[in-house]
Amino acid sequence: MNITLKLSLIVPMYNEGSNISYFYNRITKVLENIGYRYEIICINDGSKDDTMQRLTELNKKDNRVKIINLSRNFGKEIAMSAGLKAAKGDAIIPIDADLQDPPELIPELIDKWLAGYDVVYATRTKREGETWTKKATAKLFYKFMRKITNIDIPADTGDFRLMSRRVVDALNQLPEHHRFMKGLFSWVGFKQIGISYQREPRHAGKSSFNYWKLWNFAIEGITSFSFAPLKMSSYLGLIVSFLSVLYMLFLIVRTIFFGNEVPGYPSLMVAILFFGGVQLMSLGFIGEYVGRIYNESKRRPLYFVSEQIGFDEEEPISNKDKIVRISR
Ligand code: UDP
Ligand code: MG
Repeated sequence: MNITLKLSLIVPMYNEGSNISYFYNRITKVLENIGYRYEIICINDGSKDDTMQRLTELNKKDNRVKIINLSRNFGKEIAMSAGLKAAKGDAIIPIDADLQDPPELIPELIDKWLAGYDVVYATRTKREGETWTKKATAKLFYKFMRKITNIDIPADTGDFRLMSRRVVDALNQLPEHHRFMKGLFSWVGFKQIGISYQREPRHAGKSSFNYWKLWNFAIEGITSFSFAPLKMSSYLGLIVSFLSVLYMLFLIVRTIFFGNEVPGYPSLMVAILFFGGVQLMSLGFIGEYVGRIYNESKRRPLYFVSEQIGFDEEEPISNKDKIVRISR
């Protein structure tokens, strides 16, 4: 048993009232067995159900459950960022409240961490309770991301992972508002390794990610890490102009040899519509980036906290512990 090391669990929660007590029981069983000191930082992301009440009750029973109550729903990525900022542990583990990521895997993550890895991520080999369309689109997305960005986001890997203190310190330095966490986790670098597991269906409640959200999530990921769409529109423009020059030459030659025939309405229409489409699309690509520049340039705080529970009393550490902690 190593009481000098501390784990921080980061649990973003949006309408997870029905999952909390099951989550708490299952996770504490695992954590107690590990024997490290730990804190469970629950971020209430503007839930509309009884998540906050249940968390407060839990905190009264067990002060290792700490609560950050955000002022409204900011989305999972931001909620997680709030948790990462508050985490004090030597190793930090974001985990979903619906227990789709089995906490029983944590000891395995820790083993790899102790062996010297900074990031130990968990890769899903099987996703139960998820439709094949979701699996297929997810697969396609990871493949596409790997093609167009130069960071390597491991496929079929969620946010469930263990990160060392220095990785989280690095993440906390990133000021951007558009936080595609999976990308950022990889982007910071350090020694990373994956282990595999089977993703379980949600314990209760339903997923808050619909296809529209996932689509926007994908756009977020792409625009955060790649200029490929912008490049694509310039290349498309280049190719189309080149082809139109060829077409023009063809028309000139044809007119010289065969004279000018008036008909040409269909080809004209096709060209206009095609270019209209290409231009709108390119504008849209640019717009996605300009919008993000606009958002970042406002320099608003990432989130507001309406309440923080359980953070003031730091549990006492003996002098001996302190020395060990510093020398690590
Ligand atoms: N979540 C959150 N804010 C949101 C949406 C989701 O904090 O706006 C949390 C949610 O409570 C859960 C985790 O993010 O702990 C994953 O959400 P979900 O299970 O809905 O996503 P999925 O597993 O389907 O990707
Ligand atoms: Mg889930």
